[in-house]
Amino acid sequence: MIPPKQVQEILDAVRIEDVVQEFVTLRKRGVNMIGLCPFHGEKTPSFNVSPARNIFKCFGCGKGGDAVTFLREHENLTYVEALRWLARKYGIDIQEVERSPEQVAELQLADSLYIVNDFALQHFQDQLFNTDEGKSVALSYFKQRGLREDTIRAFGLGYAPEQRDLLVRRAKATGHNNDLIRKVGLSNQDGTRDFFRGRVMFAIHNLSGKVAAFAGRTMSSDKTIPKYINSPETEIYVKNKTLYGAFQAKKAIRQQDECILVEGYMDVISLHQAGIENAVASSGTSLTEGQLHLIKRNTNNLKIIYDGDPAVKLRCVVSILRLNRI
Ligand SMILES: [Zn+2]
Repeated sequence: MIPPKQVQEILDAVRIEDVVQEFVTLRKRGVNMIGLCPFHGEKTPSFNVSPARNIFKCFGCGKGGDAVTFLREHENLTYVEALRWLARKYGIDIQEVERSPEQVAELQLADSLYIVNDFALQHFQDQLFNTDEGKSVALSYFKQRGLREDTIRAFGLGYAPEQRDLLVRRAKATGHNNDLIRKVGLSNQDGTRDFFRGRVMFAIHNLSGKVAAFAGRTMSSDKTIPKYINSPETEIYVKNKTLYGAFQAKKAIRQQDECILVEGYMDVISLHQAGIENAVASSGTSLTEGQLHLIKRNTNNLKIIYDGDPAVKLRCVVSILRLNRI
């Protein structure tokens, strides 16, 4: 088997549009790319590729998924063959080893946690766009901050309503395992209450675009409530090795050979919407060595832009680090 670390390395490197374009001619439409579906005959394109979400979807025949799915379907490859194909394309030298039962179990758990987070993302987005509370409390907040709807969707923003157990009940009704909901931090310890309530939600993606965790910002003016809370650390979320926005920024960071580090989630999103796509945030922690290594994999140039003293707010502190010196 391919060691899990190398699987991740491959998935981190993959850009869906690169892979699809080996087989299908695509053109830009808005934030997405479209082309003629290779899976069913058509004359007008309904085959969509979303670089932001790293997935494809055909609105004609319904086929969709990530780059691995695309290769499996299009080239008739197994999962491992698809990974080998991608490794070759991206110049990753894989060293295959025997997989232990523990490793199998670990991979299965990680997959399950991603599935639960994906369910939660859809729930939070549904609450944001399709409920009165979501629209009046959260969507209006994002819009006041100048965010467009395509940006809100690309960054996986959402809303967790005040209600005490809506997500927990929905998860149960749709057959999700209660233990996994608790493990990934979406409920309290006994699994009866939602962890995030009355908060606008920020999905925290891993480098391959899967939702690893969430951050929630309170909409209450009550000063005793913490402004931000985050998912706990899990098998799929290690805080000091995660940079907010890195998935959306990695292409621009490589292209421009520079990474901009800002303080908050909203800073990353607003900059991205304004066309400055190489910004990330360290999300609540001070910059760690693990995060620096993550940046260094893509560029040696780091520009840090933090707000100055909030009482002054006249200038921001800008420093430029040359990462090849660390
Ligand atoms: Zn199709």
